[in-house]
Amino acid sequence: MDTLTTCKRCGGNACYEQHIDEATKTWLCMACGFTTSTVMQDNGAVVKTAVESSPELYKDLKFVDDTNLAWLPATITIPEKGMVFLDGTTAKDWVWAGVRAIKLTQEEIDSKKYPEGHNFKMDMQNLKQFGQRDFMDALEYIGFFQVEM
Ligand SMILES: [Zn+2]
Repeated sequence: MDTLTTCKRCGGNACYEQHIDEATKTWLCMACGFTTSTVMQDNGAVVKTAVESSPELYKDLKFVDDTNLAWLPATITIPEKGMVFLDGTTAKDWVWAGVRAIKLTQEEIDSKKYPEGHNFKMDMQNLKQFGQRDFMDALEYIGFFQVEM
């Protein structure tokens, strides 16, 4: 069962709540692009690992809500569509970035520079920046909503 709820981080009303099982819920805010889940207790093992494996900036951007869950920026990667990721230098100075994937040329496939079976690459030339509350526009830019589930 999925519902839209109010985001505890930004107060927007387009926070996508997903019930994985009876005990587990996840949230992804379509406005601010931050995500958390019931296993993301601040200072818990899951959050520690997530922060350690993320860019340094994520530590500063971490938001802890009133139920002690830690929210971190989402990263969306769809190999044949594109990527949406947080691009910034400080906790104040960042944007959402969308990059569309493009088809590899036959030459590139023949060059074996890309893993076997890969037909697309992220084209950094068409990187587009979006505001901190415009995560959904970045998703739209890469064609996220046209993905068949
Ligand atoms: Zn939000």
